[in-house]
Amino acid sequence: MTLPNSSAGTLLVIDHEVDRLQALRTYLEQHHYRVCTEREDRAAIELIPTMQPDLVLLGMNLPGKDCREVCRAIKSTRAPAFLPVVLLADRSLDEQTLEAEQDADGLLVKPVREADALMQVGALLRIKRQVDALWSKNQALVSELEKRNTELEKAVRESREASLLKDSIVKNVSHELKTPLVQVKAAVALMAEDARAGVPSTIALSDMATAATAKLESVVQNITQLAATFDVKLEAFRLADALSVAVRQTGRQWLSSGAVDRIKASVDDVPLLMGDRGGVAQVLQQLIDNAIKFSPNGGDVEITGRPEANGIRIAVSDHGIGIAGDQLERIFQAFYQVDSSSTRPFGGAGVGLAIVKLLLDKMGTAIDVQSTPGVGSTFSFLLPAAPPEKPPESSQVAAVPSTESGNQPAQSGTLG
Ligand code: ADP
Repeated sequence: MTLPNSSAGTLLVIDHEVDRLQALRTYLEQHHYRVCTEREDRAAIELIPTMQPDLVLLGMNLPGKDCREVCRAIKSTRAPAFLPVVLLADRSLDEQTLEAEQDADGLLVKPVREADALMQVGALLRIKRQVDALWSKNQALVSELEKRNTELEKAVRESREASLLKDSIVKNVSHELKTPLVQVKAAVALMAEDARAGVPSTIALSDMATAATAKLESVVQNITQLAATFDVKLEAFRLADALSVAVRQTGRQWLSSGAVDRIKASVDDVPLLMGDRGGVAQVLQQLIDNAIKFSPNGGDVEITGRPEANGIRIAVSDHGIGIAGDQLERIFQAFYQVDSSSTRPFGGAGVGLAIVKLLLDKMGTAIDVQSTPGVGSTFSFLLPAAPPEKPPESSQVAAVPSTESGNQPAQSGTLG
């Protein structure tokens, strides 16, 4: 079968005696139609998806075939797009022909008058173009509606999540504030009782009040920080200095538990880093606090600073409960906790890692986490080494904003 070039449209002629339609074919080609021919309906129907004809001229003389069925089969190949079918009847309008026409879009009686065929084909193709345009407009509307629907579903889901989040914020924050408040209240009441009875208070009571106050301070600070904009100052600093600040703060919160003795670090050999020392101290404190908290069976918390191709990777590792793979991205969302049940064994407002992420974003780096449930977790981030030609002067380091003085270098090995 040859496919002549044409711009008016592609016509597929299916007729058992297609050779007898040669004159019609030539006539239509002269009027810029591309005309393809097939003797057999099955072969023709298989061709339609690739050929994509604009109109089919279907001979009613296909041996042993029900013309209405063939017509329906042809139309269904392009459905829901419109493929007009014109019947080529061998005899004039008898009952059978009229019945077959119900499924078709036009009828020509053989011998076909070429001008009639041209007129009918032209009219049907004009209708087809209008139907196609409407159809594609409709398609665009349907996909726009589907898009809107997806957006709507997303908005509903988000609003449901936001409402759940709000509940968990209120629950978490009030729990996190209430627990240390009750401890401070109890410690102060007991100390007052002791004073009234003329008995010296035990150091344990004041330790309890101090640790609870530090906890309160940290919760309030964390929540305030989440809404605050961080001003980071990138300059050279020693990792040991930032770590020292972090460990001192951790020590205040985990006062009586001896948890600080579990922190093992060897960072004196780490080259000078570029970053915000106060911010890095805060990040380390948050990661160390979590490492201690989520290792209920104890185990060391290791802090390392190892060179990589693009800087120094600072890592905080624990041997705690670990985190399941599907939770690893979510834990950095504010107020998200793997276990947010009211019976969860670990405290926390669920904002620590969100702050870590914010701070590191500001410093142009990212937090990474590797974790295996039941084995432990390693949180790490990369900072560039400070350029060697500009070593920091001691006064510059002291000028870095920080909540702590933080000038004592951390020791290798156990910190505390
Ligand atoms: P919080 O510790 O107050 O719950 P975070 O934002 O610091 O909030 O951490 C979010 C969640 O990530 C925690 O509730 C916990 O489920 C998980 N997580 C964080 N650090 C660790 C860790 N070292 N080991 C296991 N789970 C952790």
